Amino acid sequence: MKKNIFLTGLSIRARLTASISILTVFSLILCGSCIYPLVHRIVQDNIEKELHNTTRAMVNMVQAAVNVSVRSHLRAIAEKNLEIVSLIYEEYQSGKISEDEAKQRAERILLGQTIGKTGYLYCLNSNGNVAIHPRSQVKGTNISDHEFIREQTALKNGYINYEWNNPGEKEKKAKALFMSYFAPWDWIISVSAYKNEFSYLINADDFREKVMEISLGKSGYVFIIGKDEEIIVHPWVKGSMKEFYDTLGYQFLHDIYKQKNGKIAYRWQSPDSSEPRKKIAVFEELPQLGWIVASSVYTDEIYGPLNKIITFICLSIAIALLLAIPLGAVVSDSITTPVRRLAELFAEAAKGNWGVRSAHDSRDEIGTLSQGFNRFMDDLQGMKSDLNTEVEIRQKSEYRRRLFEEVFKNAMEGICITDTEGKIIATNPAFTAITGYRQEEILGRNPKILKSDKHSNEFYERMWTQIREKGHWTGEIWNRRKTGESYPELLSISAIRDADGAPTHYVSVFHDITEMKSKEEQLKYQAHHDALTGLPNRILLIDRIAMAISRAKRHETRLALFYLDLDNFKNVNDSLGHETGDRILIQTTERLKQIFKPQDTLARLGGDEFVIMIEGIASELDLITRIEKLLSSFARPFSIDETTLHVTTSLGITIFPDDGEDAGTLIKNADMAMYQAKEEGRNGYHMFRQEMNERAKRRLTVENALRRAVADREFSVYYQPKTDLETATVYGLEALVRWIRPDGIVISPGEFIPLAEETGLIIDIGRIVLETACKDLPVISNKTGLPLSVSINLSGRQLDDPEILNDIRSTVQNTGCNPGNIEFEITESTLMDDVKGTVELLEQISEMGFSLSIDDFGTGYSSLAYLKRFPINTLKIDRSFVMDITESEEDTSIVQTIIDMSRNLGLDVVAEGVEKPEQSAKLLSLGCSRIQGFLYGKPMPLQELIEHLNN
Ligand code: C2E
Ligand code: CA
Ligand code: CA
Repeated sequence: MKKNIFLTGLSIRARLTASISILTVFSLILCGSCIYPLVHRIVQDNIEKELHNTTRAMVNMVQAAVNVSVRSHLRAIAEKNLEIVSLIYEEYQSGKISEDEAKQRAERILLGQTIGKTGYLYCLNSNGNVAIHPRSQVKGTNISDHEFIREQTALKNGYINYEWNNPGEKEKKAKALFMSYFAPWDWIISVSAYKNEFSYLINADDFREKVMEISLGKSGYVFIIGKDEEIIVHPWVKGSMKEFYDTLGYQFLHDIYKQKNGKIAYRWQSPDSSEPRKKIAVFEELPQLGWIVASSVYTDEIYGPLNKIITFICLSIAIALLLAIPLGAVVSDSITTPVRRLAELFAEAAKGNWGVRSAHDSRDEIGTLSQGFNRFMDDLQGMKSDLNTEVEIRQKSEYRRRLFEEVFKNAMEGICITDTEGKIIATNPAFTAITGYRQEEILGRNPKILKSDKHSNEFYERMWTQIREKGHWTGEIWNRRKTGESYPELLSISAIRDADGAPTHYVSVFHDITEMKSKEEQLKYQAHHDALTGLPNRILLIDRIAMAISRAKRHETRLALFYLDLDNFKNVNDSLGHETGDRILIQTTERLKQIFKPQDTLARLGGDEFVIMIEGIASELDLITRIEKLLSSFARPFSIDETTLHVTTSLGITIFPDDGEDAGTLIKNADMAMYQAKEEGRNGYHMFRQEMNERAKRRLTVENALRRAVADREFSVYYQPKTDLETATVYGLEALVRWIRPDGIVISPGEFIPLAEETGLIIDIGRIVLETACKDLPVISNKTGLPLSVSINLSGRQLDDPEILNDIRSTVQNTGCNPGNIEFEITESTLMDDVKGTVELLEQISEMGFSLSIDDFGTGYSSLAYLKRFPINTLKIDRSFVMDITESEEDTSIVQTIIDMSRNLGLDVVAEGVEKPEQSAKLLSLGCSRIQGFLYGKPMPLQELIEHLNN
């Protein structure tokens, strides 16, 4: 676009002002310069016309004056001659003269006069006959054929003009005549003269004043030049013109005279001015007289109006100039003000005030612009508000996005987004924290890598079916961390769908509920445990009892409930305070824990009441042993802050299934039994069933008796021979203890050994047996002459005794017995209790020279691998297999296996409890020739044995 450089950099207002001013001035000057010459010309023309007109008027006036002057001159002559004729007539009348005389006299007088140069007098009759005439030949002729003659005869008096040429003259010349009628002689006295000869008739004084009266402009005047360049009329010049212009050198006057008609400019020195001034003169000839009438004016005077016009024009231009700028300013202001306002509005709008509107509503372009502006602003504001709304929405959505991003980032829940193909496209930090997978290593992979093996395929199928159908799945699931560890999570999977409802993504949100689970467990624990002691409470106890009952039913075992209530606990609380009470309860708990195995349930029901549930009660003895243990644990005083306190307890006992089918009944009955114990004098127990109670009480008696028996060494050792069928000889003995009561009743070990083991009395008893056997063996050898070895049973309890090796060693030393003749029998179940410890102990025993055999083999679960580790010499096949060996194929095969095994291991094998020859034969056929049983000899006292062997 071409840039308009006109007045650039200036405001429109300034430009408009300048433009209007310049245009105005320019057009004014143009007009002025056009108009001026025009006006000048018109004015000049007018003035000249005026001058011409004036001159013409002057000519006319002088003509008229000349005519008047000629007429009155002619009239005067005519009237004078009429008078003369009248006077002559009067003389005729008075008779002094005759008529003819009178007429001749009159004729002489009339013709004797000359009028000017060639004028003359004549008389006509009213019929046109010439009465008197200078030319005598004309006298008496009728000349009425001339027009003017007819006019004369008609008028008789007055003035007429006519054309006439004297005889000999070619052209007709203007003539004038005045007539006066003298009736008595019917004479029309006519005075005629050629007009061009009037000058001789005219007296300039007659019209000089009139001429001088005429003024032209301020100082213009009219002057007349006559024939022979004589100045006839002039304001101040008189006389011959020649002299005048010769003295002053005014050639122009001569020029005027020569030109006769026209216009002339010249310089004139007026008598009242110091310098000659420009003058103009218009002149015209008066042809009849040959005069020249001139009008002269000072040019500056006639052009005065023209100068005025110029001044006016110049002044107008000056004023216009002066007005043009303010006018231009006003006009441009009127034009630009709305524009400026608009511009200001724009500026205001540009500043951000979008509420501005133009009030300008004219129908011009600015109005359109203004409307446009308003519409634009409306649109702009509309768009702004749209934009604001949009921005607001965007900000909100941005805020929401950031919010969600923050939520996504900071959520405690792991979040995992997958596409429809199951590829992971985003995870959050919690995901990494929970699973251990960093985002970069899991992106693009399938969440299946988190799958644990805790759920079946059907589980996952169900899950995905629900997501597909309902778009959502929530549940607990086990997943696997990167470390391989499985953990529970609360998982929620949602399908994100597009507008058509087709899934585009799946969002999994999960919460590691490991802690929650443990919390849950803690809560469960708290709900099920006593706060003070940490023991299970009644609820958990009932639950456990219920479970134990179902187990007991399945395995046909028994379980016992001990309902324990501290004696006089209320007194302790009241007198020593609850804190002390609490500490006693805690110590009680500690003691009970020491007594009972972890698999037993120890519960606190509240206050000083505890319940202990024991599963798998093997026997009444077992039960009693536990009761004794429990009661005796209270024998030791409690020490609370250096004060010792004797606290005892009362026990109520129930047995499932004997004393109740369910937990409630069992507890209730145990409670009742406990009250019974309280009534019986406290610090004791009471069993719910009377007969059992009695039996138990008797057990206690037995134990006491056994204790006494140990102290009194009421034990004797019987020997049972072991026979080798191949050689048909007794090759060894087994020492079997017997309790011989003071009343002589022999009690078999089956009845007291378990009690002795449980009470620990077995250690003392075992020592007695070993000593006895060591003493008896040489006696037997001496008395029978048989080199017999003897087997001595060691119970598990004895092996646990740290003094066992010392005891054996000292016994051997004290008795001088040869370890090579002594074999220790250890039951298979004892062996397997603590393999490592037992192996070490047995090795030491073996190193001392003793042989070792496994007793009751086949009842335990020893494996070949273990057996190899023990330094054993013999396996003793348990009596239960031998018993049915002839009937049971299963038992046969077991025995066969044991025999094969012992052979493989290079061990001796002995079959126990052989009572029948068939059994013995069978065993022999299976490859076991060493037999122990009633068939070959019962356990016998020493003397009887010696007798038996010697027979
Ligand atoms: P055990 O070590 O298995 O001893 C074999 C038991 O079977 C003995 O019973 C014996 O009399 C019995 N017996 C042997 N042959 C036959 C038979 O043909 N038919 C039947 N019905 N029984 C037969 P006893 O003497 O009553 O001993 C029982 C258990 O007491 C022993 O079983 C042993 O485990 C234990 N015992 C015996 N004396 C002692 C000992 O001094 N110390 C230790 N710790 N335990 C001993
Ligand atoms: Ca034995
Ligand atoms: Ca045995």
